[in-house]
Amino acid sequence: MGMEKARRGRFLRALRGIVGQEAVLDSPAELILYEFDASLERATPEVVVLPRNSQQVADIVALANREAVPYVARGAGTGLSGGSIPVAGGMVISMARFNRILEIDLESRTATVEPGVVNLDLNNALARRGYWFAPDPASWKASTIGGNAAENAGGPHCLKYGVTSNHVLGLEVVLPTGQVAWTGGQAPDFPGYDLTGLLVGSEGTLGIFTRLIVGISPRPHALRTMLAVFEKMEAASQAVSAIIAAGILPATLEMMDSLIVRAVEDFFHVGYPQDAGAVLIIEVDGLQEGLDTQVRRISEICSDQGAREVRIAQSEEERQNLWTGRREFLNAITAISPGHVTADGTVPRNRLPEVLGRVVEVGQRYGLSIGNVFHAGDGNLHPIILVDPENQGEKERAFQACHDIMRICVEAGGTISGEHGIGMEKTQAMPLLFAPADLAVMESIKNCFDPAGLCNPGKIFPSEGRGSRVKGVESRVESRGSSHVGAALGGRPGRGRAAAMVGAVALAPMHLSGAAAHLGKALAPDSYSTEESFLDPYRLDGWRPSIVLSPSSPEEAAAALGAAAEAGIAVLPWGSGTKMGRGLAPNKAGAVLGTRKMTGVVDFNPENLTVTVRAGTILAAVQETVGAAGQMVSLDPAHADRATIGGILSANASGPRRFRYGAPRDLVLGLQAALPDGRIIRAGGRTVKNVAGYDLTRLFIGSLGTLGLITEATLKLRPVPEEQRTLVLPCRDLAQAGECLRRIMASSDLLPAALELLSDGAAAMASERVGLSRERGPVLVVALEGFAEEVEGQASRLASLAPSMVMEDPAPLWRLLADGLAGGLVARAGVPAGLVTRFMEGVDSVADGLGVDCPAIAEAGTGIVRLFPRADAESEASLGGFLKKARSIAAGLGGYLALEEAPAQVKAAVDVWGDPGPAYPAMERLKAVFDPLGILSPGRFVGGL
Ligand SMILES: Cc1cc2nc3c(=O)[nH]c(=O)nc-3n(C[C@H](O)[C@H](O)[C@H](O)COP(=O)(O)OP(=O)(O)OC[C@H]3O[C@@H](n4cnc5c(N)ncnc54)[C@H](O)[C@@H]3O)c2cc1C
Repeated sequence: MGMEKARRGRFLRALRGIVGQEAVLDSPAELILYEFDASLERATPEVVVLPRNSQQVADIVALANREAVPYVARGAGTGLSGGSIPVAGGMVISMARFNRILEIDLESRTATVEPGVVNLDLNNALARRGYWFAPDPASWKASTIGGNAAENAGGPHCLKYGVTSNHVLGLEVVLPTGQVAWTGGQAPDFPGYDLTGLLVGSEGTLGIFTRLIVGISPRPHALRTMLAVFEKMEAASQAVSAIIAAGILPATLEMMDSLIVRAVEDFFHVGYPQDAGAVLIIEVDGLQEGLDTQVRRISEICSDQGAREVRIAQSEEERQNLWTGRREFLNAITAISPGHVTADGTVPRNRLPEVLGRVVEVGQRYGLSIGNVFHAGDGNLHPIILVDPENQGEKERAFQACHDIMRICVEAGGTISGEHGIGMEKTQAMPLLFAPADLAVMESIKNCFDPAGLCNPGKIFPSEGRGSRVKGVESRVESRGSSHVGAALGGRPGRGRAAAMVGAVALAPMHLSGAAAHLGKALAPDSYSTEESFLDPYRLDGWRPSIVLSPSSPEEAAAALGAAAEAGIAVLPWGSGTKMGRGLAPNKAGAVLGTRKMTGVVDFNPENLTVTVRAGTILAAVQETVGAAGQMVSLDPAHADRATIGGILSANASGPRRFRYGAPRDLVLGLQAALPDGRIIRAGGRTVKNVAGYDLTRLFIGSLGTLGLITEATLKLRPVPEEQRTLVLPCRDLAQAGECLRRIMASSDLLPAALELLSDGAAAMASERVGLSRERGPVLVVALEGFAEEVEGQASRLASLAPSMVMEDPAPLWRLLADGLAGGLVARAGVPAGLVTRFMEGVDSVADGLGVDCPAIAEAGTGIVRLFPRADAESEASLGGFLKKARSIAAGLGGYLALEEAPAQVKAAVDVWGDPGPAYPAMERLKAVFDPLGILSPGRFVGGL
């Protein structure tokens, strides 16, 4: 940008006033150190500032806004897509001084850290206590947790344990407005939009993280590392597909081709066979008992696919040698080539063999050497293109080759970045993956967070790039001004449909029956009804629709939404109605938009362990389809026999097995949604790793139908475990249950799939209804799943921890635990997992004092507690007071309480969602991006969104 002298002097003085003299760098010798990262890009900042705390960052951002100076946060500068490079000049905000680990809470399995903490430093601190932070980018010796979160970094162990976004629970963020806000926290599922999910992977373009709460877990109890040697890369990639398709999930499944193997062996002498066509490094970890079975099965599969040798590391030294070659391969590359470009794309795993073949052709076409070293189990390719930047035109050819590889990945159903981000290197590849509508929505989000466009400009979006570095790229992107968010934020109204919508705000809503007729016109005659008998089942707390729309395609749904926007009437998305008790009824008259005609499996890919289904499909039907191939969707929400996929995702509904397998945000890879302006967008994809653009998938999950209608989703699958067993551990009281939980949670050789705690009252009801055997007191129910020997081993270890009984026919109990005890009033609280019993004790004592009976069921491993309060006629008036007190206990422990189901009079007396927190203004602005006229489920969600 180039500030003129007087302004620059003023700016530097103000900066020094905020952080002190020594924390501002502006000499050319100092600035040159901040002009690059690990990509080939370069740009020099005008100033570098090193703040120490959030307030300083907020003051710096406010100053940048006043002086219109662009800025970019920088972690360790190991990024591979130019993310931290100040392409627009201005200021680098280095997070190097944010280097403290603030808290490690083993009982809740969380750590609170500053963003400049190096990944390995956190892991070393955790290792001393027997724990780890699973995301392990190969750069972990240098890269920071803030940078990992901003890029949503992956790593070898992410195959089994998930990428960074699966492990970030909360963020303190300085927004581009200068406001400091918290999103999420130690408790799971804070009500509201999943801003944490949106911010992770946003490449520093939506704000600067100043604190992070991350999930940690006990280090795996045992592990084995193998090296499988193949003559040909195709055979090695066939073996990868075959291992995944056989339902085995190793901790890592990494591939290196012949070029990399030779380079690494020449440099490190770690014992790789120099004549190999490709090698796989496969590590399995977990319980001692299951490892031999896994090693044997994997060895057999590799041999069947033509492996000439499968070597098992016999010592820690041998294991470290195998890993040194993989983790440090770049040193070896540097020895054989003066430069390189690392491509990064992901494809469905079963497409690897074909795609790797096409990558070889790309190298031949451009006369470039390409080596491959990558996370094969995730289908995440990293072709390393060797270049000599001094050779005329070679760098440009490498970028062109990289672009071709991205195109190949997209054509194979994949994505243009699995973990390195878009940064400034891949902006021009975005239109390969995203349609104009998808990009316009993401740009609207960027504008909504950063209206001045100063926060890490020049990244992610093609319209922001430096201009096409790659020939033949046709930009299909609409200009920023045309997106409807401009209107939502009071900016320049857009064109076309968006403009029509803005006009509609000013119109008085049509008379309702006229409006209903108008909506009906958008659909085929058999896709809507206004008949009284048809409308009645859709009553909600006294609200009743004037028309029920049942589109049979996403296009019809989008047309119906567009028509509703024009008519200015409300639309309430509806699946099968099992989760409609959540939130409030719409606050204006309107229509129900049902998904019952949008059903069926669109694509089931058992080799990639994914299924794509239409939103109206019942979960049980999906389970039946994938179950025939020995796979499952690892979700067990309430009423799975009736609940639709769209409703489950929209309500972010999960069940007991979430403890082991994750929540919807961890299991959904991509989705399609119809928006109120009549557009259809796609978010995410069908690959297990994807960091291209903003994570709209997580934004939609849990948004309760207030942003759009989910019309389709792609879900991750898992193999059905070989054996399942349910153990019941009766406890004397909550204190004893708490002690037992602490020991299970701290153990690395107990890995339950579900860990439920039933209060005394809930256990009594379960005993009556489903034959749970107990005398008095609370009960722990533990689900064990895995290979037969793993289940057996855990069962005997549990028995030594506390007396336990095997439940012979546990299915009715699990159904009860998922569905709840019913009774018309259900509150859901979230607290840090280590505080579950403390919360339940507090609730018990309040309930006793008010004459309320309150059975409770806790997902003790995750921190979700459902309360089922009841009172006789005399004490009924106390229910409101009870809920308020329970809410304040949850808040005191760092959690929240929301009503999941309640009679209308309770909803009128008690705020259904509770305080939306300091991030609420950002949620309001996001709502306006998607639904500027407020027609989708108006008034239903947090804070009346
Ligand atoms: C040898 C090598 C191996 C690698 N292996 C992997 C791998 O296996 N997996 C993988 O995913 N990546 C890998 N990478 C890429 C890189 O290490 C990761 O992207 C890493 O997460 C970047 O962290 P950093 O601290 O270096 O961030 P930087 O490079 O400094 O910044 C990256 C982005 O994060 C933003 N950012 C940084 N801090 C913050 C903050 N506090 N708040 C908001 N935004 C912020 C920056 O603005 C920038 O956009 C590798 C890189 C190298 C050099």
